[in-house]
Amino acid sequence: MKRFERVAVIGVGLIGGSFSLALKEKNLCRHIVGVGRSPANMKLALERGAIDSIETDAAAAARNADLVLVATPVAQFSGVMHSMEKTLKPGAIATDAGSTKRDVVAAARAGLGSKISQFVPAHPIAGAEKSGAAAASKDLFRGKRVVLTPLPENSPESIQLIQRTWAATGAKVSTMLPEEHDEVFAAVSHLPHLLAYALASEIGGRGNAKELFAYAAGGFRDFTRIASSHPEMWRDICIANRDCLLTEILSFEEKLKSIASMLEAGDVTALEKLFADARAAREKWLNGEHQ
Ligand code: NAD
Repeated sequence: MKRFERVAVIGVGLIGGSFSLALKEKNLCRHIVGVGRSPANMKLALERGAIDSIETDAAAAARNADLVLVATPVAQFSGVMHSMEKTLKPGAIATDAGSTKRDVVAAARAGLGSKISQFVPAHPIAGAEKSGAAAASKDLFRGKRVVLTPLPENSPESIQLIQRTWAATGAKVSTMLPEEHDEVFAAVSHLPHLLAYALASEIGGRGNAKELFAYAAGGFRDFTRIASSHPEMWRDICIANRDCLLTEILSFEEKLKSIASMLEAGDVTALEKLFADARAAREKWLNGEHQ
């Protein structure tokens, strides 16, 4: 496995910090330079040993780097890619952690121009409702999936290097097209986050919210855990993938309508069948039958 001399991490939060700690644990890099918006977070990243030095911007960090990870919220990618274009050296390779892929690829094409072949897009399917370098862990990606959405411009060697680098963090790496990626994650990630935010917002906005929260227990806590996720990150994801997300919302509305009809009709048989089928589907998933 190639040992990188200099790695640049743009956005040293939960994901960027975890990637850095994992590379360091495997001794896969000599020096990691980080870039971020919050001085306090960058200081913490330095103290935790996730990075070795701090640069002011993506252009300065990418200069002399032989690997760059972009791990900012996805709406920041356009500016970051434009900055990197100025300094990304020939032979260097870049990847990212963005949760959406069509917009990331578009931002990379527009920003990196003729250097687009040096960017191999990726999405680690690992995370948490926590953010910042404080939450970073060298084990975050262990046993989790990372989806690469390679570009036609990428060389097989570049794809293999990024595949091996993510695999070195302990992840299981697979590939998809950006379009397929965004459709799949609208259904199994973006819609659930939206529903958790919607429920927490709805209950929190009611006149008797205090009383409702006083009686909310494990079910409410489990269902809304991901509504504690970073609002900026989820704003960007939902906007970037809004066409796929709107399709998912429409089909979910249909599902709710059909459940409402069962309730109106007092159709115990249909309701119990739906619950039994749903439980069986979830148990299959928990048992890893879809791996
Ligand atoms: P985070 O908030 O923990 O970290 C993001 C960091 O980027 C912050 O420290 C922020 O200061 C910094 N930043 C923002 N704009 C910047 C800019 N223009 N230049 C440099 N730094 C900038 O968020 P995270 O959870 O690490 O998410 C990072 C990326 O990974 C996002 O694109 C997100 O969609 C993706 N992702 C997140 C998860 C998750 O569960 N948290 C999972 C998979 C992928």
